[in-house]
Amino acid sequence: MKTVIQLSTKVIDSEYRLKKTLLHECCHVAQFVLEREFRPPHGRAFWKWARIATRRFPDLPVETCHSYDVHYKCKYQCTACGKMFGRHSKSLDTARYRCKCGGRIVYLGMFDPDGRRIAEKVPTPYNRFVKERYESVRAEMPPGTPNAKVLQRVAQIWKDRKNRSDGSDNE
Ligand SMILES: [Zn+2]
Ligand SMILES: [Zn+2]
Repeated sequence: MKTVIQLSTKVIDSEYRLKKTLLHECCHVAQFVLEREFRPPHGRAFWKWARIATRRFPDLPVETCHSYDVHYKCKYQCTACGKMFGRHSKSLDTARYRCKCGGRIVYLGMFDPDGRRIAEKVPTPYNRFVKERYESVRAEMPPGTPNAKVLQRVAQIWKDRKNRSDGSDNE
């Protein structure tokens, strides 16, 4: 079976993206040639090889083309099928959230729009405050309160506390 990889210059604007896209396409080759699975394009066979590729090249995470459209900084991957998940912040609860296939999700780190790993910021006092208080604040609110509302409430508590301590400093 003859297989040809064609890369688009529209997508490839850096050496990094070239490597990343080539690796993605190699997973399709493995899917077609070794697994004989042609449909769906990003199905079980694709993700099987994507998982193998990611293990070998952790800095070149294989993703579906669609993930180029929206850049999610935080990347997660299913340990069972290799499917990638993106979030704008480190918001995915890996202890609770499961992939559709039932697999456990692991956090891969933060990546820039080119998919390069970026160093994670050390949590600020506010970040730590949110982490500490989030659960208890949510417990006080009606069940099903959206995440954003809970965070708003936590931010308000933080602000109140800050104002209070600023006030007492001035006295
Ligand atoms: Zn693809
Ligand atoms: Zn999975």
